[in-house]
Amino acid sequence: LPSKSAGPRPVPLPAGEHPAYGACTLFDELPLSQKTKDGLRKAGYKEMSDIQRAAIPHALCGRDVLGAAKTGSGKTLAFVIPVLEKLYRERWGPEDGVGGIILSPTTDLAGQIFEVFRNVGKAHTFSAGAIVGKRKGIEEEKTRMNYLNIIVCTPGRLVQHFNETPNFDCSNLQILVLDEADQILDHGFRSQVDAILSQIPKARQTLLFSATQTKSVKDLSRVSLKDPQYISVHEEA
Ligand code: ADP
Ligand code: MG
Repeated sequence: LPSKSAGPRPVPLPAGEHPAYGACTLFDELPLSQKTKDGLRKAGYKEMSDIQRAAIPHALCGRDVLGAAKTGSGKTLAFVIPVLEKLYRERWGPEDGVGGIILSPTTDLAGQIFEVFRNVGKAHTFSAGAIVGKRKGIEEEKTRMNYLNIIVCTPGRLVQHFNETPNFDCSNLQILVLDEADQILDHGFRSQVDAILSQIPKARQTLLFSATQTKSVKDLSRVSLKDPQYISVHEEA
């Protein structure tokens, strides 16, 4: 195995004119691992969208983020990049188990998010999987669960694994992402999300993204955000 070097240290944001925005406009200007930079370049991503500019620097500093920006504004990369960098900096390896979980309200969206991980994360050595239970049955998934470092899934399927998969363990989880967080925190997913939260450590980084701002203090206290950065971006038409 190639020896893993420590990633760049998180840098404090320079004081800019707009406090919510980092000074960087290009992905290349961010303190990212070369592996992530290569993945972004090969995928054709150069300039950050507004939500990416606003959210990624905070997330790279280890902060919890609550990000709102309309559909199509590039929220996926705003969490995919921080998840890859977090595990890279922790020198996460195959033997370390589940380091990142991304919850999606639908299996279709989970599949799309996984594709972004696969594309942008190509040069990394983490194993990632979309646990959507479509093509493969749950039995086949069970054998893979303990070898995945990054899991993209719906809440229901993850709970099923917590209940049924021997030795499935997320007690080392570093980072939790809720995509379409307003839907995930909605009534319909309540018991499943609570079951997941009871199985993962409280000391972790949490990123929430949605098209509308999730303001309910009750919802946010459920996921125990720590001094979250509230980022709301309304791009010019
Ligand atoms: P959202 O989750 O906010 O609806 P997505 O993450 O699905 O948005 O991104 C929408 C589209 O924009 C995707 O096709 C994605 O590849 C593209 N995209 C995202 N970020 C960038 C960027 N920085 N530069 C160019 N295209 C981007
Ligand atoms: Mg999205």
